[in-house]
Amino acid sequence: MESSSSSSASLNRRASRTCYRPSPSKLVLVVSWTENNPRKRFYRCPNYWVGRKCKYFQWVDDEICPRGKVLIPEQRHIILRLQAEDSTCKKREKCLAMSLILALLMCGICLCIILVFW
Ligand SMILES: [Zn+2]
Repeated sequence: MESSSSSSASLNRRASRTCYRPSPSKLVLVVSWTENNPRKRFYRCPNYWVGRKCKYFQWVDDEICPRGKVLIPEQRHIILRLQAEDSTCKKREKCLAMSLILALLMCGICLCIILVFW
């Protein structure tokens, strides 16, 4: 059975979470990020991408409203941009902390040399 319609999404939530083609496999929960189905969850067969042996999937969420199809990708783009900025800031923070430690070590060594040879 191949499911591509979301009209029966509520029915699919209760459906079996196992695909029996080619052999019994537990379905995998995935999130769609396509233009028409942003953030819409679905179960797919673990063999779905393995040589396209099985194309079975079933929607979990109901259809995304037109406004959601615009807003969700925009919000996701903002979140991804902020995560990238956060990652950059954390790297910079780590670099500054290492620089500070190095500067303190250099000051300590200089102070020791001054005290020893004074
Ligand atoms: Zn399958």
